[in-house]
Amino acid sequence: MRFLAGQLDGLVYGGDAWTVCERRAGSTAPSNSGDSVFCIGNGFIGIRGFFDETSQGSDRRSPIVHLNGVYEKTPIHYHEAGHGFASSSDTRIPVADGTQLQIFVGGEKVSESTGSYLERVRELDLQAGVLRYTATWRSHADQTLRIHIERAALFERRELAIQKIILTPEDFSGEITARVTLNSPSIYYDVEENGLSKGPYDPRIGPILKTTPWQAMPRERGDPLLSFAHRTKNSRFFVFSALETTAASPSLINTRDERSEKACVRTMTFHASQANPIEIDCCLAYGAQQGGETSQGRASVKNALAHASASGAAALLSGQARYLEAFWANAGVAMPTAPDLLRALRFGMFQLLQAAGSDGRTSVSAKGQTGEGYEGHIFWDAEIFALPFFVFNKPEIARSMLAYRYSGLAAARRNAQVLGHARGALYPWRTIAGEECSSYFPAGSAQYHINADIAYAIRQYVEATGDQAFLVSHGAEMIVETARIWLEIGYFDPGRKGAFSINEVTGPDEYSALVNNNLYTNVMAKSHLEYAVEVLELLRNAYREDFERLWTGLQLSNDEVAQWRRAAQKMLKPYDEERKLYLQDDAFLHRKPWPAAEIPKDKLPLLMHFHPLAIYRRQVCKQADAVLAMHLLKEQFSKQDVNRALDFYEKVTVHDSTLSPCVFGAVAARCGDLRKAYDYFVQTALIDLEDVCRNTGYGLHMAAMGGAWICLAMGFGGMRVTGGKLTFEPKYSDEIGEYGFKTQFKGRLLHITVRKSGVEYSLLKGETINFQHGDVEVNLLADATTVLAVAGLDDAIQSKKSANA
Ligand code: BGC
Repeated sequence: MRFLAGQLDGLVYGGDAWTVCERRAGSTAPSNSGDSVFCIGNGFIGIRGFFDETSQGSDRRSPIVHLNGVYEKTPIHYHEAGHGFASSSDTRIPVADGTQLQIFVGGEKVSESTGSYLERVRELDLQAGVLRYTATWRSHADQTLRIHIERAALFERRELAIQKIILTPEDFSGEITARVTLNSPSIYYDVEENGLSKGPYDPRIGPILKTTPWQAMPRERGDPLLSFAHRTKNSRFFVFSALETTAASPSLINTRDERSEKACVRTMTFHASQANPIEIDCCLAYGAQQGGETSQGRASVKNALAHASASGAAALLSGQARYLEAFWANAGVAMPTAPDLLRALRFGMFQLLQAAGSDGRTSVSAKGQTGEGYEGHIFWDAEIFALPFFVFNKPEIARSMLAYRYSGLAAARRNAQVLGHARGALYPWRTIAGEECSSYFPAGSAQYHINADIAYAIRQYVEATGDQAFLVSHGAEMIVETARIWLEIGYFDPGRKGAFSINEVTGPDEYSALVNNNLYTNVMAKSHLEYAVEVLELLRNAYREDFERLWTGLQLSNDEVAQWRRAAQKMLKPYDEERKLYLQDDAFLHRKPWPAAEIPKDKLPLLMHFHPLAIYRRQVCKQADAVLAMHLLKEQFSKQDVNRALDFYEKVTVHDSTLSPCVFGAVAARCGDLRKAYDYFVQTALIDLEDVCRNTGYGLHMAAMGGAWICLAMGFGGMRVTGGKLTFEPKYSDEIGEYGFKTQFKGRLLHITVRKSGVEYSLLKGETINFQHGDVEVNLLADATTVLAVAGLDDAIQSKKSANA
């Protein structure tokens, strides 16, 4: 990637500061990665950015619409199963797709054989929350038709998506027919027929179902809607989907509806001219519900459609723009001299917003609703990479993501039992409904750090928002139950002076599996245990009733809590005295080195070219592990430790996970290696806009989107919350130039702008805020601004409007 005076060279997806755009000339086929990039969503519905008015009827094979949390339970088949292996997976499955449009001009279908395309443009408008598609087609008889579609999934009515179609005959007038279709979700199955099973197996995609998981439910007698009702066979999801249209054009000649098992089709014929174009508002509504009662799903869809038709598409789209305006007013970022990077960063923030469930029953899956990758599963990506963005930019979503974990606590308790633990809860490595869905335990269930990640996320949320009510009602129980697991799997090793050792776990770096004393796991467990003790103390002193409920309900004892304290104090941190280096695990240095620089590019990612054992034996990292521990738990490491670790682990890390570069970037920024930090930052921000890993087609990398924001705000901006205290240690980077970001902290909205000349803090909303600027304690009054020096951080160079009270 080259950086040219603020512009990144040769971008696949361009645009301006608020739009992401792709222009395709003539007959160039749309790319799969573009279908992910131009996905629109609202935390529930996700619609891939696919448009093809040339396709035939229900011939679509690649999934277009997903609903957050809607999955089928699919059996996992092992030839050699072991006790407690996961027996099924939650596989997210596509639902009915109502985006398809076919057009006929004078009875002839618009296609590549009846004419040619002059240009096709897709443009995602991050301010309006709308995707626009514009195509210009010219028939062999030289008639030019402009096709314009606006698509949005509404944040204010999560059951609804709008598709506004405008067809303009630019140089002729005559009969035009538009046919819109709601395709049954079952068309995606039947592997034999459509050949989906072809191609190499890639563990990052997930299984291909050979038969449909859907059971069609009867239509309600006399229901005029174009709709489908389906039920999943095993997970008992009931999904109701409907398509409604309003044709504003006065030239509508006739409308015909057809319904079959495969599709519901509405065909509308118009007389159109340049002055009298065709306008059709399509409204797509979805309701999903698990369990017996189905009438609620139908009712919610019908209500949503009634609301849409009463409001009209224009009003709904204005509502969408207002929602986005409010979002950006609280979550702004700025980089005036790096517009391409700014667009990439905003794109990531927007996609995170589109991905995140807000109902407390769903969260952010690895790919959001943008593709089939990883079966729609939720991993630790949600808590460690996506959640920080929400904590500081839209805290109500962070709360909802944590509430989702709370809803999985009972399943986590069962999971702990399956793994042989007498007490406590163990969150699954990958899941939708809460059960472990990993069929490969060495890199799945063995990642016990998930428990500490969730506890860390709760702490970050509570400390940044001050929402103790959540801690008391949900957080404390999760923290305590998950903390118990450390005593279940660790022990005070007499051979190591009684240090608390945790053996046979896998850390974040999946290229070393089943190791002893993974540094990340151990230090996160230490912090988790300390927090569990602290939270119980808080409850004992300030929320007595809740304390009693928890203490008795969970059968806690002073002895157990004392053991947690001791384990935290004596936690083993693998360290090499000679090199003065924290080790990723006990044996890391004794594995045969495999320097990242010596691995040919065509052998990456290693997981696609080598048996896991061939990788596990080597000293090579897929992703940040020890370095991530240092990013999250700064206080446990000295500056020198971090510098040495950065230097050492960079040489052995291949970044085969998109979760990796942002961590190196954030830590490099903190260490003052700003050039390096910038490179990692760019790489992270552009992972999908450049399809760096060549798998964006299977969905966007949500963790990298969150990682890009982490790089800027927490890396370059040096923002963190420790012990309830907000701190900044901003760095100015010549490569980025001036940059700014907003952050929310305990009900305040703070705007930070970093310039070479100084750091400007403005309190935009809320009462006086107290924070650290390096070593300087700052008290900023309501509406006040202060400017402090970037480097040195100890002398205020300017102070406007009584900044320091
Ligand atoms: C990474 C995991 C991550 C998962 C989903 C894997 O490649 O190694 O850490 O949770 O992808 O993004």
